Amino acid sequence: MSKIINAHIHLGGSHVVDSVYTEEQLLKNMEDNHIDGMVVLPLAEPTPDNFEGHNRVYRFAQEHSGRVWGVADMHSRHTEEVYMKEVKRCVEKLGFVALKLHPLLHGVNPITKVADKAFRAASEFDIPLMIHTGLNVTHSPAIIIKKAQQYRNLKIVLCHAGTMTFSNEAIMAAEICENIYLEPSWCPSHYIEKMIKTIGAERVIMASDGIPSTAIELAKAANMNVTEEERAMFMGGSAIKLYKLK
Ligand SMILES: [Zn+2]
Repeated sequence: MSKIINAHIHLGGSHVVDSVYTEEQLLKNMEDNHIDGMVVLPLAEPTPDNFEGHNRVYRFAQEHSGRVWGVADMHSRHTEEVYMKEVKRCVEKLGFVALKLHPLLHGVNPITKVADKAFRAASEFDIPLMIHTGLNVTHSPAIIIKKAQQYRNLKIVLCHAGTMTFSNEAIMAAEICENIYLEPSWCPSHYIEKMIKTIGAERVIMASDGIPSTAIELAKAANMNVTEEERAMFMGGSAIKLYKLK
């Protein structure tokens, strides 16, 4: 039977989005919704919480090996040295499967010099780079096209796939660049259908971002007008392949 993966959900708290999710809540959310695995990101503020956020995700992943995988969310304003050292630790010591660049929480535009270290780090350590798009960010995800062309071997995931307002631009970016993937949490289901039909379900990844929306994202997936093969790929197959989940 095909697996259901929530490919982007947060652990911890943030003063920016004003929410707190605990390990117990995440596990309950997974069980309540019959989800097989979760890709977990720390919801942490900049230094020094950043490192503790990674440690917390690591402990959670260790306790639930094969069901929970970690992602490094490294604040872009760390120095080059600190940034690279921590990403290396997350990949080589903690076994994390991806790196996150968050224009909103890091206060950076992804095409600036300060944010470029995220692209370099993800390339160097051979993990996909997740970039928050849409929701509360003023720039279009289309600005990632040039970065995707510059880093052709890097797989880039546009989180929230432009969140409807910029979803057509996110789809266009993924059409132009085969190394761009779309993760459409918060998007209406007709846009998710369009993503699957345009770029193929192998590059469209289901996630809920937060606990209350898990059931909503699953309901959207269940009601989309796509083939059963496409639905299964979207709900778990694509994430397993992209993040090499074991
Ligand atoms: Zn998120």
